[in-house]
Amino acid sequence: MADAPIHLWLDVTDAASARIRCWIDVDASGPEGTQMAFPRWIPGSYVIRDPVRMVRDLCWSSSSEFPPWDSEWAGSPVERIGVNRLRMGEGQVAGSRIRLGYEIIADELSVRTNHATHAHAFFSQAATWWIPEEAVLDRKDSTQITLTARHPAHWQPFGPWCADGSEMVDDGMTLSHLTISGLEAWMDSPLSFSEAAPRIRSVGRISLEVTIVDIAGAPVRDEAAEKLCDDAARILVQQVADLGDPGAGRYALLLLLTSGERGGLEHRWGQVSMMGRTGLTGVDPRKAMDLRSLISHEFTHLWNVRNLRPRSFECMNLEVEAPEPMLWWFEGVTSYYADIACWRSGVWSEAEYREEMERKIRRHLGRLGPSRQSVADSAQLAWVEGYRPDCWAAEARASYYLEGELIGLALDAELRHRTNDAVRLLDVISEANARYGLGGSIGGGLDHDRLKKVIGDLAPSTRLGRWLDQAISNPARPNLVKAFGRFGLRIVASSPDTPGQVLGAEIASNEGGVVIRRVHSDVPARSVLRPGDEVIAVDGLRIRSSKALTGTLQGAGEVVNLTVARHGIIITLDVALSDPPAEHKLTGRGNSLWRSTIADGEGVKD
Ligand SMILES: [Zn+2]
Repeated sequence: MADAPIHLWLDVTDAASARIRCWIDVDASGPEGTQMAFPRWIPGSYVIRDPVRMVRDLCWSSSSEFPPWDSEWAGSPVERIGVNRLRMGEGQVAGSRIRLGYEIIADELSVRTNHATHAHAFFSQAATWWIPEEAVLDRKDSTQITLTARHPAHWQPFGPWCADGSEMVDDGMTLSHLTISGLEAWMDSPLSFSEAAPRIRSVGRISLEVTIVDIAGAPVRDEAAEKLCDDAARILVQQVADLGDPGAGRYALLLLLTSGERGGLEHRWGQVSMMGRTGLTGVDPRKAMDLRSLISHEFTHLWNVRNLRPRSFECMNLEVEAPEPMLWWFEGVTSYYADIACWRSGVWSEAEYREEMERKIRRHLGRLGPSRQSVADSAQLAWVEGYRPDCWAAEARASYYLEGELIGLALDAELRHRTNDAVRLLDVISEANARYGLGGSIGGGLDHDRLKKVIGDLAPSTRLGRWLDQAISNPARPNLVKAFGRFGLRIVASSPDTPGQVLGAEIASNEGGVVIRRVHSDVPARSVLRPGDEVIAVDGLRIRSSKALTGTLQGAGEVVNLTVARHGIIITLDVALSDPPAEHKLTGRGNSLWRSTIADGEGVKD
C-alpha cells in the first residue's frame, strides 16, 4: 500500500467489562471497495491464533474528523471475504477517508493478545487492529500511525509508542495521543493502560522503563518493585557488556502480575512479561528466580531475534505460517545465555544457577520426546503441535526451548574446551549480530549455514560444523555427561529423598481434585491410567491433594486399588506401583573453565 496515514481510536473507558471499542481511519482504495486483513498470528509466537475471533460488530462509514465517541456512531455492514478478510466502502472515491468500527473482547490472559479489567487494559496490536489490504509487514513501509485513546483520567498509557500529549475531556476521561511509524513497528508495539507509573533506570544509552501492574488491582509493593528494577538493570548492563551496544533507545518493560499465569514476549524495544504475583514479593523464591530468568530471556531477544533475526522473518506475512528451523537457536540459546547473564551479573548465585540447571536436566531426562524428535523438526512443527500438547506429547515431542538450551550448553562447552576458553558462545552471538544483525556489516538475518560460518571463522580449528548439523537434525539427546564433563561437573543419579513406591505419574492437584497429567513410559501404571484421570481414593481412602496421594502410596502394598473419575464416570482400577525414579544432581566444584564463566562478569553473588 501507499504509505497513507492510519488513525486509530481506542476507547478503554469500559475496561472492567473487557469490551473495548476500536475504530480505524484509512484511505479508501476506490469504488470497488477497500480490503482489510486481520493478523492470524502474533510476531514472536509461532502458532495461528486467529485473534479475529474476538472481534464483534463490524461496520464502516465515511470518516469524519470527529472522535467516534462524541455522538452515537453508526455505520454500514462490511462484507466478510475470508476468515480474516473484509471488504468495505464500495462506491467510495480512492483516497477518501473511511472509518471501520468494531468491538474487541479483551479477556484472554496472554502476553500475545488482549486483556482488560477494572485495574488495567493491555493490547497486543496484532490482536487488535485490521491492516489495510494484507497483513504483511514490509520493513521498508513507513506508514504514519497515530492513535487517540480515551481512558480514565487516573490511568496512563505505557509502551514503546511515542507520546504526543494528552488532554482532559469533560466527562472526567483523558484523551492520550500516541504515534508510531511503519506497519512493522506498529504491530510490534504493545500498549497498556493502568495507574502504574514507570520506574526508570539508565543502562548505558538505554532508558529502561519498567511498569509493574497487578491485573486484579492488588497493590504492588514498592520495595519489591524497586529491587526487581535494580536486578533487571544489572542483568541488562551485563548483556550490553557481553553482546555489544544495541543502540540508544527507550526499553519498555511491562510486567503483569497474575494469580499464576506465566509468559513473556519480546519486542524490538521492550518486553511484556507475565508472572504469578508471589514472584515479585519473594514469598516464592523459586518463582522470584524464574521471574528474573524470564526478564533476562526477553532482554536477550534484543540481540537474538530482534536485532539478529531469523532469515525467514525478513518480510513477515501474518496470514500464513512461517516455519523457522532455527528456533532452537533463537529460543533455546537465548534461554541458555539469559541464565548465564543472571549468574554473571550477580543477580543469581552459582548455587542458584546450578539449582536451575538441575531442574532442566531432570525435565530433559524425564521425557522420551527429546530422543524421538530433533530440535529442527520441533521448530518446524511448532505451528501445528508446539502450543497444543496432546496427552502423550512428552513422549513424542522435544521442546526447542529446553533441548535448544542444552545444545547451546554443549556447544559452549565444546567451543571453550577446543579453543582453550578463547571463544565462547556469547562471542558467537555478538559476532553474528555484528555481521547479520540490523545495520550489521552484511545484514539479512541468521540461518544455519551463516551460524556455521561465524563459528568456523571465530574458531577455525574446532571443526564444529558436522557436530552442529548432527545436534540439530538428529533426534538424539545432546551428550550432557560429556558437556558437563568439559566443565569438571558430573551428573549423578541418586535414589530419591523420599523412599517408597509411586504410581510413576506427574500429578497436579487443583481445586480439591488430584489429576494425572502424564504417566511415565516405563511403569506398570502406564497401561492402566491416562492423563486427565482424577484420583478420588486409594484403597478406599479419600484423596484430596497430591501430597496426600504420595503419603498414602508410601504405606501401601505392591498393588493398590484406585477410585478414579474418567469422563465423569467413577471407575476402580488395580495399579501396580513402581520404584521412584532416580534424582539427578550436578556434582563437583567445576574446573577453571567453569569458574571462568563468571570471571569477567559484572558481579558475584555468594
Ligand atoms: Zn523467547
